[in-house]
Amino acid sequence: MAFENLSDKLQNIFKNLRGKGRLSEADVKTALKEVKMALLEADVNFKVVKNFVNTVQERAVGQDVLNSLTPGQMVIKIVNEEMIRLLGEQTVELQLKPSNEITVLMMCGLQGAGKTTTVAKLAGKLKSKGRKPLLVACDIYRPAAIEQLQINGDKQGVSVFSMGDKHKPLNIAKAAMEHAVKNGYNVVMLDTAGRLHIDEAMMEELQEIKANINVHQTILVVDAMTGQDAVNVSELFNEKLSIDGVILTKLDGDTRGGAALSIRAVTGRPILYVGMGEKLSDLEQFYPDRMASRILGMGDILTLIDKAQAEFDETKAKELEKKIKKAEFDFNDFLEQMQQMKKMGGISSLLGMLPGAGKLKDIEIDENALATTEAIIYSMTKAERSNPDILNPSRKKRIAAGAGVDISEVNALVKQLEQSRKMMKQFSGMMGKGGKHGGKF
Ligand code: GDP
Repeated sequence: MAFENLSDKLQNIFKNLRGKGRLSEADVKTALKEVKMALLEADVNFKVVKNFVNTVQERAVGQDVLNSLTPGQMVIKIVNEEMIRLLGEQTVELQLKPSNEITVLMMCGLQGAGKTTTVAKLAGKLKSKGRKPLLVACDIYRPAAIEQLQINGDKQGVSVFSMGDKHKPLNIAKAAMEHAVKNGYNVVMLDTAGRLHIDEAMMEELQEIKANINVHQTILVVDAMTGQDAVNVSELFNEKLSIDGVILTKLDGDTRGGAALSIRAVTGRPILYVGMGEKLSDLEQFYPDRMASRILGMGDILTLIDKAQAEFDETKAKELEKKIKKAEFDFNDFLEQMQQMKKMGGISSLLGMLPGAGKLKDIEIDENALATTEAIIYSMTKAERSNPDILNPSRKKRIAAGAGVDISEVNALVKQLEQSRKMMKQFSGMMGKGGKHGGKF
């Protein structure tokens, strides 16, 4: 995951600080020198690093901090606060006009940055908020860009407007606006053309669109993996087009993280969202405070909770609760729970967000064991899944063969379910009697 190295280094520096008890000015300065090195190695813009370290130092060598009971903790707190400030302090929402007006979003970026994917990801988000987005294929140069947009739009259930590759992007955008008015779309998202590098023709084309279409927000998509290049690209786009915000893609990769930490400070423009994978659901709102705590190894509990809530189906949860009360939990429910967990990105990805999880990276998470469990349940008939009591030895033998496992693994799984049911019975007994120890205990 991004920031892993930086995060490890900072945590080591902090561990030393905490371990020291009283701190001298020299201790703090030495620690901050190490912080500086760590940030530079993470490819953070050197001016940004210099300012950052100076500010932390000014605040941290004050007598209040050094004389406090926990100076190490105080320094860490200051680093955390300054990092949040560096990342932009507040979460900035994408600005949209009221639903009865058309918001035009001009999406731009270099080729390969992830623009077309991101446009579709964002359209899905807007759709789920009740908007009616229209994707507009203005990238007439990159082979297959139009088709890619169409495929992604279909996946998201969002309409795509295209006129092939024989028209000028400005004319496509104009026609799309008319189409949007006629058909009641309220967000027009222009997927503009990128190039491999910044060039005049590309900028002029974008400026022409901006001058002739009432663009409400200009959003730049940049690739976090390109480090300082992403920062330079942002600076140039901002100079030429005055961007309103940045979407930073591929933060799921092993990028060192420098772009995320520099863009806001260098351009003054906020990061609105971050791309966390290739799937169309992998776009997350950007929270400076959560990102800072992730970098500083304090985990990202809040994102974890959000994720759980987004994937959580309330009706199903209620059904499950009923079943638990009646101790009717069966293999169908078991399967459902496993799929829920998978939807949230699997155990390894969830663990990455927990505090101190950086240290857990050597522990192998056996996602294969989950796959085995799944295979066993899939080898059961409908009747067996919903009524595990009928599982006699010959059925178990058949299931084991179907799943390609030993019969002992089937037995273990059945036992696991039985135990869960037993616990549920005891639980519901307690709840049923309406009070403490009223049940079987
Ligand atoms: P465009 O040329 O800017 O339109 O870029 P594309 O949308 O075609 O994306 C280029 C590649 O980056 C594709 O393979 C995408 O799947 C991939 N990509 C886009 N966003 C992300 C992201 O957040 N994480 C990862 N890992 N890959 C991404």
